[in-house]
Amino acid sequence: MNPTYGPEADAYRDKVQAFLAEKLPTDWAGIGTLPGDEVRDFVASWRTTLYEAGYLAPGWPVEYGGAGLSALEQVILAEEFARAGVPTGGPNDGFGIQMLGNTLLVWGSEEQKRHYIPRILSGEDTWCQGYSEPNAGSDLGGLGLRADLDGDQWVLNGQKIWTSAGHLADHIFTLARTDPDAPKHKGISFLLVDMRQPGIEVRPIKMISGESEFNEVFYTDAVTPKHEVVGGVNNGWAVAMSLLGYERGAAAATNSIRYQGELDRLFLLAKERGLTEDPRIRQRLAWCYGKVQIMRYLGMRTLTQFLAGHQPGPDAAITKLYWSEYHQAVTELSLDILGADALVPSGRKPTSAFGADDAGAPNSSASWVDTFLNTRAATIYAGSSQIQRNIVGEMVLGLPKEPKPG
Ligand SMILES: Cc1cc2nc3c(=O)[nH]c(=O)nc-3n(C[C@H](O)[C@H](O)[C@H](O)COP(=O)(O)OP(=O)(O)OC[C@H]3O[C@@H](n4cnc5c(N)ncnc54)[C@H](O)[C@@H]3O)c2cc1C
Repeated sequence: MNPTYGPEADAYRDKVQAFLAEKLPTDWAGIGTLPGDEVRDFVASWRTTLYEAGYLAPGWPVEYGGAGLSALEQVILAEEFARAGVPTGGPNDGFGIQMLGNTLLVWGSEEQKRHYIPRILSGEDTWCQGYSEPNAGSDLGGLGLRADLDGDQWVLNGQKIWTSAGHLADHIFTLARTDPDAPKHKGISFLLVDMRQPGIEVRPIKMISGESEFNEVFYTDAVTPKHEVVGGVNNGWAVAMSLLGYERGAAAATNSIRYQGELDRLFLLAKERGLTEDPRIRQRLAWCYGKVQIMRYLGMRTLTQFLAGHQPGPDAAITKLYWSEYHQAVTELSLDILGADALVPSGRKPTSAFGADDAGAPNSSASWVDTFLNTRAATIYAGSSQIQRNIVGEMVLGLPKEPKPG
């Protein structure tokens, strides 16, 4: 089965390919071919190219600085970028554009949209996500960061944790308890906070790979103006949940392209090491191939719903389970293929702790080992596997709800 999108879509695909051919070097083979220390500069300049073309937020209306693309055009754009091995934005754009920007377009006041949307796109403001706390992750509704109104500003005290790219951000969208007496989901507000103030302290957390991509964020009498609430005081739960839909649904269309590229690299590694004749390795490679194909069809299913105008719902949990658990399995296989070399990793490392290594990355042992280490977190962030299974059971299959403790 090889579905196509039709002639209009092909014409748009040609246009995107022409854009990529014009903007990228002629011998371009993916961002992974750049030395690790050149990646940051490339991404910064590539982000400017996308900004100027309106491609940073391709689905947004032109009046907000987007490209006003149809759903299908957005998917084609994402597919072609994934095939070319270029990012769709900078390191904080998942938070700023995809999560916060989309949320502001739905929930934000006119002032918030007018103020923040252009600054998010231009890169003047960079955002991170302050949801999780040491005692509130899966059970996010139990969060304890306090925000108390004092005159015309909120005063925040408490702590967030696992704040990805928080060390690169100057703003945080954060969930805070604004009514401690209300039932737990009803006393939360969604606040926009400038991190450049003495009341905010960001402490990087060292990961198993030795890198630091996420942080603790401490609030000690930090302040934000009264009007920086999105969606109304004590209505933060509804806003927070709609934002998570953008977080969890987005990757479905391009996952299989990235994972197929990574798997092709693993086939090469197995060949180089003479292991493609080993029946146990062949069996596991074939299993991985099957999983990537399933992801491809899952992506098409999501795409069909997206084109029909539906935002990702609870079945986004299936996609999340698939890619995160697959990615742990395929990187475990890579370590078995590397054998003892995996104990002394060398060569280019991945430049991000999330997902597959950069497209076009060399088959270095450090690439595979660090990706393997990074995948340990994939079944935790954006909703743990256990929570995704609860969602599938209760909201997709309609099974009885899990018993609540006590
Ligand atoms: C790499 C990484 C990046 C992250 N980035 C961010 C970020 O940028 N911003 C942010 O706000 N957060 C971020 N997070 C936090 C992430 O959302 C939480 O780690 C996640 O929601 C799980 O919460 P927890 O760590 O508190 O674990 P817990 O909720 O304490 O869960 C512990 C274990 O119990 C299981 N469990 C919990 N409840 C149930 C249940 N009801 N049924 C069955 N099993 C259950 C879980 O599956 C898990 O195995 C990140 C996390 C990681 C690892």
